[in-house]
Amino acid sequence: MSSLINNQAREITVSKFGGTSVADHQAMLRCAQIIKNDPANRVVVVSASSGVTNYLVRLSQANVSEAEQQQLLESIKNIQLNILAEIENSEPLEEKINGLLNELTAYAQAQSLNHSLRIADAILSFGEQMSSLLFAQVLQSIGVNGHTFDVKQIMKTNDLYGQAVVDLDKLAKCTATFLTEKLNDQVIVTQGFIGQTADGHTTTLGRGGSDYSAALIAEALGAKNLAIWTDVVGIFTTDPRITDQARAIKEISFGEAAEMATFGAKILHPATLIPAMRKNIPVFVGSSKEPEKGGTYIQQTVASKPTYRSISLRKEQTLVTVKSPAMLHASGFLAKVFAVLAKHELSVDLITTSEISVAMTFDNPSGSTQALLNSTVVEELEQLCEVSVENGLSLIAVVGNNIHKTNGVGTSIFDALSGINVRMICQGASEHNLCFLVNEAQANETVEKLHNKLFS
Ligand code: ADP
Ligand code: ASP
Ligand code: MG
Repeated sequence: MSSLINNQAREITVSKFGGTSVADHQAMLRCAQIIKNDPANRVVVVSASSGVTNYLVRLSQANVSEAEQQQLLESIKNIQLNILAEIENSEPLEEKINGLLNELTAYAQAQSLNHSLRIADAILSFGEQMSSLLFAQVLQSIGVNGHTFDVKQIMKTNDLYGQAVVDLDKLAKCTATFLTEKLNDQVIVTQGFIGQTADGHTTTLGRGGSDYSAALIAEALGAKNLAIWTDVVGIFTTDPRITDQARAIKEISFGEAAEMATFGAKILHPATLIPAMRKNIPVFVGSSKEPEKGGTYIQQTVASKPTYRSISLRKEQTLVTVKSPAMLHASGFLAKVFAVLAKHELSVDLITTSEISVAMTFDNPSGSTQALLNSTVVEELEQLCEVSVENGLSLIAVVGNNIHKTNGVGTSIFDALSGINVRMICQGASEHNLCFLVNEAQANETVEKLHNKLFS
């Protein structure tokens, strides 16, 4: 029996469908057909239906009035019940969805009485819980033996709510114990984005985390492929919403795609490629609306190594500059600064230093539930040095190959940017990128100008 499971595992594709792919019944039906078309598709990881997590984020916040709470719950209910209404013989499922909506209401009420990060994560988990139940039923409606599987059985995490860290050993063991055998005769539909602490509390892995969940499950199963189905026909030379000149990339290496994701290309959660790279699992990115158009293949080695592959943009960056004359010829100052950041579990993205000052950037997205750079951190840093904080910045990364060793890269990039104030530049640590900060108001224009210069 176990060899049968192992052989099957090697042939498995883990398929992840994002929010727009499971936005309504028609979208779910298209995705179900993708699953049906290839017997290797035995594990499906779904996001919440489009818009639901945003409503849940608001619902989980501290200052929500009773009227707004009602409105949010109503909007979520409408999205889910509209899908349910299109599914035949859905009475037992309707009971489950209504049960979840009641549970969600109770959590929302508890949250407005006594706000906690733990309840916030419990609230955020309802989108994926509902979409996974609905998707399994849609699979069944077209003759696929789809069953919902509670990902909390395998995705064990620490208790860093909003940005929980997954226990990889437990994931591997629990997958072998609770999931692998089911794949012999079922197509499993499970939830992205959510996990569970050792003492049973629900956690989330950070916004956009379903991509990462899918990659972790693919790794734990030793899957042959990972497919990320979204609303664009692959990874583009830049976000196609910024310029219609952007074009789809046929193939890209793990290293390049990982840098794109890290520096903001929303198409993939930043951590997605880490498990795929560990187990050398090729990743396909395509559109669930137009699967016939193909997509992008991300793999370890690719034939082409262009200097310029793509441009990523990440908005809502905060730049913190710390300055201390005591830093001149002194040692240990940076260790103290980083000790404060580590204590608050803040991660620095870019960093530049001069004789007596250090500038660092932090991702500070407003719709996030993750720990943000707050006044407590700034006050603690002020015990050590002068601190200045600038908001409203965007990080732009030019991603490609051998950027650090190619003549004229800087000239090509900065020639394109006349009229743009470049606030900070980082290059040299990686062969794959050159990054810089600009004002948010000029960010899209900067990407457009650069794209014209590097890709036209
Ligand atoms: P999903 O809900 O399927 O996870 P996301 O909205 O998270 O989808 O990611 C898909 C979006 O990523 C696209 O609609 C596109 O606007 C954006 N995006 C950003 N950078 C890129 C890029 N380089 N290539 C393609 N899409 C990109
Ligand atoms: N539903 C979650 C979000 O919107 C996770 C995801 O879609 O990947 O962030
Ligand atoms: Mg996404």
